[in-house]
This record gives sequence, C-alpha cells and structure tokens, in this order.
Amino acid sequence: MEIKVVKNILGANDQIAGKNRQLFDSNQVFVVNVMASPGAGKTSVIMETIKRLKGKTRVGVVEGDISSSLDAEAIGKEDVPVVQINTGGECHLDASMTASALGDVPLNDIDLLLIENVGNLVCPAEFRIGEDIRILIASTPEGDDKPFKYPLMFHEADVVLINKIDLLPYLKFDVNAFTQAIRGINQKVKIFPVSCTTGEGIEEWVSWLLGRMGKK
Ligand code: MG
Ligand code: ZN
Repeated sequence: MEIKVVKNILGANDQIAGKNRQLFDSNQVFVVNVMASPGAGKTSVIMETIKRLKGKTRVGVVEGDISSSLDAEAIGKEDVPVVQINTGGECHLDASMTASALGDVPLNDIDLLLIENVGNLVCPAEFRIGEDIRILIASTPEGDDKPFKYPLMFHEADVVLINKIDLLPYLKFDVNAFTQAIRGINQKVKIFPVSCTTGEGIEEWVSWLLGRMGKK
C-alpha cells in the first residue's frame, strides 16, 4: 500500500517534469539540476561556472533553499537573472515547485538554466524537475565514503564534481578510491576534480558543459 502511494506521487511529479521539459525545449534552454549536501559548494560552483561562461552563453539561475535568499543575492551580483524558491521546509525541489518559479525566469533570454537544489543527498535524486542533466557536487571534507552511503544520488548523477580539492593535503580523502567507488555505481558518469578557490578543474568542467549543450 505504502509503495503504491509513493509511486503515485512520483508519477504526478514526472508528469509536471515533462511539462517543464516542454517549456525548456520550446525556449531552447539547457537545464542543469545541481545537487549536493549543504556546504559542498553548490553556490560557489554556480558562480565560477557563470564567470567562465560570460560572453559564451546566456545563463539564468533558480535557487532552491528551505528559507532565505542569501545564495540568490550572492549570485545576483554576477549580473544574471536569478529566481529564489523557498521550499518552506521541503528538503528537495520537485517539478511543481520548479514550475512555480519558471514564470519569473526569462526563458527567452537564456540558453542555460542552472537550478540549485536544496542541500540534501537523499530525496533530490528521486524527483525529476525537467532537467537535461544532473550534477552532484561532492566536496573532499565530506569524506570519500559518500558513494557507499548515498548510492542513489551517485547512480542518478550525469556528472560528479569533486570540489575543494585544494584541501586534499589536509584531509584523508583518497581521490582514486572515491572515483572507483563512484564508477562501481555509475559507469557513465563524468567526474571532474575542481576547486572554486584556486580555479583548478573549472575550465574542464565548463568546456564539457558547453560541448554537452551543443550536442542537444
Ligand atoms: Mg547554496
Ligand atoms: Zn526531500
């Protein structure tokens, strides 16, 4: 019985995600769902990505947070359109919350929409929002055991950014073991080690993203 209820919720979500998808397609907008635990660096990665895309593609951002507009204010300084969704307690974005923000996003004037999901490594993986790709930001201070603890998240991701690699000298984080653990769950995933502090790896990630947008 319980399983049936969950399936119905996800079925309804997928229908709305499909409508979001149609809207994105009709405006030729490529959409990235940015997922991570709190503090992994979603906002920093989004800001670094925007900086490197200036003059190459037109970017918009949707910021999902349980409350506050702090991240949206930070991103607004990059001079891109940004819309805040406060989920009011919900620990993930779903397709209808996303749909409710889209009226305020100038879809006609952008090519790429970065949607920052709520910081959480569990349920964001279960809710499609109409995105083209899902990226997971895993930061080195969180430890290299995350793929074992949150396998669905790693299974559902198209890209994993291993963030804060500038901190590796101070941490017991084995990049090879982490990469192997991810590959054990998801063979197709692209993995980019990055640092928003030093800029290392960001260029590689951004060129891959531009290539992926072009292939759509
Ligand atoms: Mg943030
Ligand atoms: Zn949730």
